[in-house]
Amino acid sequence: QMNLVADIEEIIREQNVEMLHLQFVDIEGILKHVSVTTEQLDSVLNGKIMFDGSSINGFSPIHKSDLYLQPDLNSFAVLPWSVEKDYAEARFLCSVKNPDGTDFEGDPRNVLKKTVTKAYEQGYSINIGPELEFFLFKTDETGRPTQQTQDFAGYFEPSPHDNGEKVRLEIYRALKKMGFTIEASHHEVARGQHEINFKYADALSAADLATTYKWVVKTVAKKFGLHATFMPKPIANENGNGMHTNISLFDIEKKQNAFYDADDERELSETSYQFIAGLLENVPNFVAVTNPLVNSYKRLVPGYEAPCYIAWSAANRSALIRIPAMRGGATRVEIRCPDPSANPYLAFATIASAGLDGVEKEMTAPEELVEDIFSMTDEELFLKEIDHLPTSLEEAVTEFEEGVIGRNTLGEHVFNEYVDVKRSELDSFRTTVHGWELENYHTKF
Ligand code: GLU
Ligand code: MG
Ligand code: MG
Repeated sequence: QMNLVADIEEIIREQNVEMLHLQFVDIEGILKHVSVTTEQLDSVLNGKIMFDGSSINGFSPIHKSDLYLQPDLNSFAVLPWSVEKDYAEARFLCSVKNPDGTDFEGDPRNVLKKTVTKAYEQGYSINIGPELEFFLFKTDETGRPTQQTQDFAGYFEPSPHDNGEKVRLEIYRALKKMGFTIEASHHEVARGQHEINFKYADALSAADLATTYKWVVKTVAKKFGLHATFMPKPIANENGNGMHTNISLFDIEKKQNAFYDADDERELSETSYQFIAGLLENVPNFVAVTNPLVNSYKRLVPGYEAPCYIAWSAANRSALIRIPAMRGGATRVEIRCPDPSANPYLAFATIASAGLDGVEKEMTAPEELVEDIFSMTDEELFLKEIDHLPTSLEEAVTEFEEGVIGRNTLGEHVFNEYVDVKRSELDSFRTTVHGWELENYHTKF
């Protein structure tokens, strides 16, 4: 800690950092921050910076609104786009504290910390590598996003079709300066759609990285006059934005990947099968977290590489859970339903505890699915007992409320607030007259 503080002070001096942004996320994973000058560094490091929790979605009631920010020193980063000769800005990601110094239970970051601690007590640390896809849209003269994508390229297409190479390069540079290890970057399947991959990390760091990634992508895109969106399905009849989540357990005592077993026919351990079983068992009760928007369910339809059915497969991309080919230390499970509009802290916490539930209860995984689900008939699906994922936010929230995984993982406070937020979103959607209705009904009736 002392060394870190000294390092931070040195960077602040050397790079002329003048402003410090203290960041955290609300219940939907939306990034918030308050900014102070570096003269207040001591107060910042001692967790003395206060804010009004009653103005943050899903936080505290008006009568208990004072909350404090405790920066995570490892998250310190100078904002690459702020650096000038004699001026720069930096940020810390923070955990939220009550006035008495205890963890505030409404903070999503604290929720994930609890899951990490619980896993630790079971003997595991959790590693996560999320893959966040996004679209780049043109903006109009007033800077507002339009519906026009910034190119018409497809999967892996290079320039001149891919108009995003320059922007992705700048995003990559910014991420790298902020501490990311970038592994790959490419044009995705849909026009205007992109993906930049970064190296996996422990669960908490992975959620911090996902949060930072979304912010950096949007910020850099804006410098190019573009609007980046992580909305799950911005264009009907095109691929949507996924946030495939690669996850593995590391056995702390044996010091090895807990999902790998050289002797198994698929080189997968008993623990990994139990983890898969836990995910499949619990998934209907947690998609309200991994797929949180009305729009999320427009992505989970057949034909767009997004899952609709609850099944697992070693290689099949139509399945909800896929096992990427790597083995040994890189053995992992990929869950394909999450989308990048999810709050990464809550999403990773629920995914991890769903899998760990399977390990704890020694659940048995169903048969692996080898055929393409999208080409199976309803009868085949029925005979193989393959269920579908919730098909609407309404259905997902109902299953979320009925299950135990959400309540147990998020804790009473976040669970109740989350349901409230989602119910009012559903009400607002239900009572709004949408473009589709006008198009189809206005002249016909
Ligand atoms: N965009 C697809 C989705 O909605 C995923 C494509 C891929 O396999 O990377 O999940
Ligand atoms: Mg992809
Ligand atoms: Mg993937």
